[in-house]
This record gives sequence, C-alpha cells and structure tokens, in this order.
Amino acid sequence: LDLDLGLTWRNRFAGLGSTFYTNLQPTPLPAPYWVGHSAAMARELGLDPGWLSSDAGAQAFTGNAPIRGAQTLASVYSGHQFGQWAGQLGDGRAILLGEVLGAHGQGLELQLKGAGRTPYSRMGDGRAVLRSSIREFLCSEAMHGLGIPTSQALCITGSDAPVRRETMETASVVTRVAPSFIRFGHFEHFAARNQLEPLQQLADFVIDQYYPECRHSQAFGGNPYAALLQAVTARTAELIAQWQAVGFCHGVMNTDNMSILGLTLDYGPFQFLDGYNPDHICNHSDDQGRYAYDQQPNIGHWNLFCLGQALLPLIGERDYALAALESYKTIYPEAMARGLRAKLGLLDAQPGDQALAEGILQLLAQEHVDFTIFWRRLSHWVAKTPGNAPGTAPNAVRDMLVDRDALDAWLLQYQERLAQVDTALAGDLMLKTNPKFVLRNHLGEQAIRLANQKDFSGVHTLLALLETPFDEHPGYDTYADFPPDWASSIAISCSS
Ligand code: AMP
Ligand code: MG
Ligand code: MG
Repeated sequence: LDLDLGLTWRNRFAGLGSTFYTNLQPTPLPAPYWVGHSAAMARELGLDPGWLSSDAGAQAFTGNAPIRGAQTLASVYSGHQFGQWAGQLGDGRAILLGEVLGAHGQGLELQLKGAGRTPYSRMGDGRAVLRSSIREFLCSEAMHGLGIPTSQALCITGSDAPVRRETMETASVVTRVAPSFIRFGHFEHFAARNQLEPLQQLADFVIDQYYPECRHSQAFGGNPYAALLQAVTARTAELIAQWQAVGFCHGVMNTDNMSILGLTLDYGPFQFLDGYNPDHICNHSDDQGRYAYDQQPNIGHWNLFCLGQALLPLIGERDYALAALESYKTIYPEAMARGLRAKLGLLDAQPGDQALAEGILQLLAQEHVDFTIFWRRLSHWVAKTPGNAPGTAPNAVRDMLVDRDALDAWLLQYQERLAQVDTALAGDLMLKTNPKFVLRNHLGEQAIRLANQKDFSGVHTLLALLETPFDEHPGYDTYADFPPDWASSIAISCSS
C-alpha cells in the first residue's frame, strides 16, 4: 500500500548498483506532526501543496509510509574527520528516497534525514533532534536565499519520540533536496579499499550526469578525471569564497561533508558571524579551531587534496592532479576579491581595491564589529546618495566603531574610490550583496524554543525572512538587530 505523490522518479544513483548502497526502509516514528515546509521547493518539485499539510504527507515525509516510485537506500562513504582518516562512515541516519524530475527537467534527490538506523549508523541512533533539524531546514533555505550553492529542504516533521543527546530531546525528520548528495568521501571510500572499478564507475557517473563538459575537455591531455578534479576544485573555491564573504562558518568541514557539486552540505554546528572575529570557532567540539572561520579556505584546499588522492589512480598523471589542485590558489583569491568588491559596491576592479577591502576587514576584526549590520548600514549610506561620491557617512555607520578616527580615515579612501563609480548602481549592488537577515544563532534558538512547545510560528517567520534576505521586510527589524548578550553563550556542538 504505497502512496502516490504524483512525482516523476528516475533514481539514477540507485542505478549504480548495490556496491554503493544498501536498500532499506526508514524506521517509522509515532504520531508525526508538521513543523514547516518550503512552498517554493514544493512548486519546484511539482508537489501538490495540499500534501504538505495533510496527515498522509506527514506520514510519507517521516518515513512511515512507502512512496510509490521511491527506491529507498543508504549510501556508503568514508572520509577524513578533523584531519584524521576515519574509515567507513556512510549515511547513518539519512535515507535517500530517490530522484525526482523538477519543474525545469532537472533531477533532484530527496533524502529523509533522521529516518532511522542504517548499516552505517555505527554507534548512532539514526535519529535527528528537532533542534538541529530546524537549524538545517532554516539554514539551507537561508543559504539558497543568499544565492549560495546548497542542499535545500522541502519540509520538516516532528514526533514526540524521545531522543537522547546531552539531554533528552525529541525526534524530527528533514526532507532535504539536492541534485546529488555525493561527497568527496564517496570517492575516498573506494580508493582506500583499492576498489578501482567502482571508483571509476562513480567518477564516470559524476562526470556524465553532473560535469559532462569534463568528458570532452581538452585540458590535461584530454584526461576527464583530471578535468573533474579541476572542476570540483573551482566549484569548491567559489563556494568557500561565498561563505567567507557573508560570514558563514560551516563548523565541520570533514571530507565526508564536502559535496562533489560544490554545495553547502550537512548543516551541524554552523554559524553566521555576529561580531567579525576571523578566529571564530562555531563548533563547540572543535577544540583546536581546525574549522575556525578564517581556516575554511585552507581546509577547502586540504579536502580537495584528499579528493585528488582518491582520484589519482584514475588520473594516472600525478602532475595533472597537482595542477588541478594548484588552480585553487588563483580561483579562491579571485572569487574572494570579487565577493569583497561586490560588498563594497565596486562593479569594476581597480588595483587598490584589495587593500581597501582588507583595510575595513582589519578594523572590523579589531573591535569584533557586527558583520551583517556594518555592511548593511554601509550599503544604505551608499544607496541613498545620488550621483557620485557620497558625503560624510551617517553616524549609523560611524558609530559602529569605537576607533572613529580609523574608520573615518578608511571612509575617506572609500569615498575617493566611490567617486569613480555610479553610486546608485553601487548601492543597488550592495543591497543585493549584503543581506539584512541572516540566521543568527539566537534567532534559530528562539524559534527552536517555541517549537519545543509546538508553536512553529518562529520557524515560519524566519523562513519567510531568510528566503528573501535582501528585502527590507518592514516590521521585522528586530530580526536584523544586534544579538542579545545571551547569544554568545549558545554552545552548538557536533551533537545533533
Ligand atoms: P556528521 O559529523 O554529522 O557529518 O556525521 C558523521 C557520520 O556520523 C555520518 O556517517 C553520519 O551519518 C553519522 N551520524 C551522525 N549522527 C548520527 C546518528 N544520530 N545516528 C547514526 N549515524 C549518525
Ligand atoms: Mg555528515
Ligand atoms: Mg551533521
């Protein structure tokens, strides 16, 4: 007795064969209830919105009822965790439903995260708690709203079933969506076991389905696997530059959390910076600060080396692999420089721009100035000025630093640079680059506290704001305000 959701399934990953996964059913949860859904994602999938409020829908997206066309499975991967080889990991609590054809003909995979134990659960219970599911649901939609490549989320359900973490919490399932959930760790898995046939099958699959241009690339003597490494390197560099520019800390950049498509994946102890502190460590379990905010670009490169190592048997030529990886050192800084120019409203590149950007970042770092608010205020100032160089910055901007002299000196340089551009265009670019709303820890926390009392209004409000974070949303300014004092005491660990 399976449910027909009216979706068109094609399940390409399942077609790879059983070396790559184990077929299994989700483990049901008692009396699931709705927490929220993304109407935009429902439209994208061509899913009847009525389903996402019906009881049958809650059953289906909690894993309690089989869905017609789905081929449920958990995939196997390995990876490096905190710099150490961790061996086999795999989908320990995420179950792939399959792949659906989206509204634009693109394939979108659906996963139920928190749907029960799998052969890869190790010591875990296969569950996710409501708290972390809300964080993943909201943040993946927030990243999408910011224009940053990411897995997305269709919906979230909960159940009163108890789940033990540091304290007792309750269970939840997020239905997450991405063109593919293949990770660097999938390649590392087969390479580490010297299983070259599945390694090549996987690489060919990824190339043919997601990077077809690599098949006929002239680069690297026509070596498609080197071209793949190069393409993944480029996407990863671009992704991390976008994280840095918006002040996003991922928190657990293990190679098993790195998407082969350059998507932000596996939202755990992530955080958007409040005050700008380059050393910030958002993951309470990360004692060494391996995944601190300013380490992310280096870690991205390190992780790509793990991928390169895994692909080496296919690439053959060590020099090709090294050259592909080397490109990170130009692509990342260029992407970052582009991101910073956009934050400053600079449509073209001038020699002094990098120093100008670094100048303000240094000042912001000295006083841990609120990153989002500073850039938004700066954007409004530029946007409000017709013609060229804006006049003196308003106190709203100047008051953000105690060291006003230093800020005024920087503002003077910035005004000189703005004299060369059309400030209306610059301001417009800035307001579309520097968001008003980001998912700060305390905002998520407030929504979670309500949700624990079965009031999901906080989740819904945040979703609406974060889907369009560059809009003003009059009446919701408190969501764009400085964090309260208690925000800095929120401790988010790997436990989720
Ligand atoms: P993460 O650090 O969240 O990326 O997870 C690392 C590995 O642990 C992955 O293989 C996850 O599937 C697995 N895992 C994390 N939490 C659980 C859980 N509660 N139950 C089973 N497996 C889990
Ligand atoms: Mg993970
Ligand atoms: Mg996780």
